[in-house]
Amino acid sequence: VVAGSSKIMADDYESYATDEIKHYLALICEHNARMKRLIEDLLTLSALESGGPAPNEERVALQPLLNSILGDAQALSAGRHEIVLTVGEPSAIGGCANELRSAFSNLAGNAVRYTPQGGRIDLIWRVQNGFGEFVVADTGIGIAEHHLPRLTERFYRVDRSRSRETGGTGLGLAIVKHVLTRHHASLEIESEPGKGSRFIARFPERYLMA
Ligand code: ADP
Repeated sequence: VVAGSSKIMADDYESYATDEIKHYLALICEHNARMKRLIEDLLTLSALESGGPAPNEERVALQPLLNSILGDAQALSAGRHEIVLTVGEPSAIGGCANELRSAFSNLAGNAVRYTPQGGRIDLIWRVQNGFGEFVVADTGIGIAEHHLPRLTERFYRVDRSRSRETGGTGLGLAIVKHVLTRHHASLEIESEPGKGSRFIARFPERYLMA
């Protein structure tokens, strides 16, 4: 209701409100959106943390899932980045489609949010050395090594103001970590400040499907 009402006011008053009122309406709308994201992420995380049953063993085909992750990343980027999807070997994962979508789109979204305009983002699926790997590589701001072990903690952020600016909730990588653990997968992070980052979700081949 709060989001809907403020949006209607912002739209209706567009032509005759003072700049000051427009400013505050825009602020209300923006913070509504942020609160909504935060509540959604908290609910997702608490559902994952409550242990719950192992995810349904649906067959989650990678190609369509990654096509839609690419579409979301492109929408978030709004043309500011070159985003390339490479699916080496078509395959599927046994697991929960919604959870995998949430994990993969958090990784892709972070790459967009922490890569300045003009950067490149690669989304790659490949099967090698006994693992299926989803790789998100960016040419963004990077992360100093001492932060890496703590990145998947709730609300852990390298740069508080930067994260706030990019609209993050601080829960994305915590969600990623939980989803991957529930899918027998691990998360590896390599990064170099100023050069870029590479997040790899690694699934043992025995959990992949034809
Ligand atoms: P946030 O909502 O703050 O982005 P996340 O849990 O998704 O929360 O990420 C935690 C922190 O890890 C971020 O605040 C940011 O400092 C860092 N981070 C995540 N992804 C990247 C990336 N691709 N490049 C640089 N820093 C990143």
